[in-house]
Amino acid sequence: MSAIKVIEREVLKEKPQGPMGFGQLFTDYMFTMDYKEGKGWHHALIKPYQNIEISPAAQVLHYGQAVFEGMKAYRQGDDIILFRPEENFKRMNLSNARLNIPEVDVAFLLDALQQLVRLEQDWIPAGQGESLYIRPFVIATEPYLGVHAATEYQFMIILSPVGAYYGDDQLMATRIYVEDEYVRAVRGGVGFAKVAGNYAASLAAQTRASELGYHQVLWLDGVEQRYIEEVGSMNIFFVMDGKVVTPELNGSILPGITRKSILQLAAYLGYEVEERRIAIEEVMNAESVSEIFGTGTAAVISPVGSIRYQDREVVINNGATGPVTQHLYDEYTAIQEGRKADPFNWCLKI
Ligand code: PMP
Repeated sequence: MSAIKVIEREVLKEKPQGPMGFGQLFTDYMFTMDYKEGKGWHHALIKPYQNIEISPAAQVLHYGQAVFEGMKAYRQGDDIILFRPEENFKRMNLSNARLNIPEVDVAFLLDALQQLVRLEQDWIPAGQGESLYIRPFVIATEPYLGVHAATEYQFMIILSPVGAYYGDDQLMATRIYVEDEYVRAVRGGVGFAKVAGNYAASLAAQTRASELGYHQVLWLDGVEQRYIEEVGSMNIFFVMDGKVVTPELNGSILPGITRKSILQLAAYLGYEVEERRIAIEEVMNAESVSEIFGTGTAAVISPVGSIRYQDREVVINNGATGPVTQHLYDEYTAIQEGRKADPFNWCLKI
């Protein structure tokens, strides 16, 4: 494939010195391409990171046709790797299909992303727990007030150097509030897709949980409000009788790439793994639940120290990070950061 045209910046930004937080700083360049019905995706460009101009009638602003992805690039000594990028572009196409957004070309975007990250390699931080967060997304730009699948879209990739999600204390055990009024997603809806509206719909519960002193919301299923689905914007895992157990994918759970990878890694490390329905009572009553943790690209693995459901609160592993959580975290981050060999071929050297 021919290289994508680059419009250069005259002055580069200052790189951050010291802690960079999460998702607040953006690099010098971005990738964009446009879609128009009849013409397909076109006008792929790497250009200086800048504001975008869209019509106030752009469909995304009214009817919410927007999907996004999140993945990371890591420094491994002198090498740079992308972690399972193909999985993210494939998942974007699942989300696109659900929102009637035209499919993107995975192979083309893998090339475009590599070109962009190579250009921006000086922005990839090297400290432990640090990486370059990559945010591909699509919005409907057609100016039209009427509910239909838009005929014009813009696809973009922006990059943000990030530290550990919870700052210095990466494996801080979180306090979780089980939401029993609102639901995140229903079967037949958009829970399995990474669509922007899912996150808007989660905010009222998240704000209430924060006000009550909890870090994240645990979501139950949308029908019986009984079966565990996800925690905040992470998938959830339990260590039960020594097994690594996670809710099975059911159409309303996002198929996390970290989830899929941790299932593979845990089996490789000799744990018994299980995907099945898990009722909230099972977790609140079971002596056999020894550890709980969330998984996602941003926070990687996040231990759960306590869980509150209605008027009861259960403390897990004395509110500390458990041995299985720690083991999986150490092995997983060692692969991502190149401290251990990658037996799964997850790291794409660029
Ligand atoms: N569930 C939700 C709702 C999410 O937003 C995310 C983050 N993408 C995840 C789970 C974890 O997915 P991944 O491991 O692919 O980051």
